[in-house]
Amino acid sequence: MKEPLDAPDTRYVHAGSDPRRQGGYVNPPVHHASTVLYRDVAEMDASQADPLKRGGPVYGRFGTPTSRAFEEALTELEGGHAAVATCSGLSAITTTILAYVRAGDHILVSDSVYLPTRTFCDSLAALGVETEYYRPTADGAAIARLIRPHTRLLYLESPGSTTFEVQDIPALTAVCRARGVATVADNTWATPVFHRPLALGAGVDAVVHSATKYLTGHADSILGAVVCTEESYPLVRAAAMRLGQCASADDTYLGLRGLRTLGVRMARHQEQGLELADWIAGREGVAAVLHPGLPGDPGHALWRRDFTGAAGLFGVELDPSFGKPDIDAMLDHLRLFGLGHSYGGYESLIVPTDPVSRRLPDTWPGRGPLLRLHAGFEAMSDLKRDLGEGLGVLLAGRAAALKG
Ligand SMILES: *Cc1c(COP(=O)(O)O)cnc(C)c1O
Repeated sequence: MKEPLDAPDTRYVHAGSDPRRQGGYVNPPVHHASTVLYRDVAEMDASQADPLKRGGPVYGRFGTPTSRAFEEALTELEGGHAAVATCSGLSAITTTILAYVRAGDHILVSDSVYLPTRTFCDSLAALGVETEYYRPTADGAAIARLIRPHTRLLYLESPGSTTFEVQDIPALTAVCRARGVATVADNTWATPVFHRPLALGAGVDAVVHSATKYLTGHADSILGAVVCTEESYPLVRAAAMRLGQCASADDTYLGLRGLRTLGVRMARHQEQGLELADWIAGREGVAAVLHPGLPGDPGHALWRRDFTGAAGLFGVELDPSFGKPDIDAMLDHLRLFGLGHSYGGYESLIVPTDPVSRRLPDTWPGRGPLLRLHAGFEAMSDLKRDLGEGLGVLLAGRAAALKG
């Protein structure tokens, strides 16, 4: 018998790909589609018997060969059963949560989640769903104490995309599985290249992605996806259909194209991010670097155990003595680090973040202003020079303020 040829680097290139299905061309065509025409009534009836089974094509919103190719490839990379592509990362998140909750339910959400996720969870109060935020460093016992008879779901993001706490997913999922609580993980930061929560310990029930970030990888599309187990897939697919969720032909094509180079891109983001994080950690004016890949980071041991690498996104905590005008002057001075939201593209970015205004009162105590950096593919010497000059402006601003 032949050995399988499916090591990770091979899978990024070939997952879900079947050139024979598309006339031999390497990439699938982009199907811009709404109506699907049937040969006759029998074929129409057969196609509509059970849209969840996704037999033949039905209607553009239910998926096209392009969106299916993206879903199948990502499913294989995450080790899931099936995936649902949606129009954005946030819609993947809201669709998945709505797939689970009913009025009267209680959900546990990590205090470190992406802010719009938090805004959505807060809005669920109007539907009779109570959200309780838990400390991202909570262990299994702490989570067990928070579970109530009506707790339906635990939602986490590891590491948190602003403050980078790593969570003990095997411990959390073990407790939740035993108590009948579903778990959902946002895997946007690590991507399946470095972390596969469906296959970790008891496994989460669904992984959500902002494919806008690393999966697509070029800052040219907004796209989301939910990768499901056999149990969660019917729930999530049905919710997506109820809510009218779908992803555009062009964006799913870009997502699929991004997956093909994900392995090499993530390896480079990791290298660039670690080098920059290490370089900036010792600089004057820098109080801490939030990067689980650094040995001194509080999440480092869990990261080593549960991840195989790190993305290019990390936090830099400045000394609390810096004011907004100093930081603004630094950001305005930078030439290569773009001032902008999102991450995962080829270019380096920087953005000031505010971890305190919406957190539990004691999870970010007395700490300095925070910047979030994304390490792109520019030459490391240029990135360091740009940041070094920016830090110079930051320090000069404080020195002038102290003198005046
Ligand atoms: C950006 C982001 C999202 C939202 O994704 P969109 O595609 O912008 O809707 C969700 N989670 C995390 C961790 C993100 O960084």
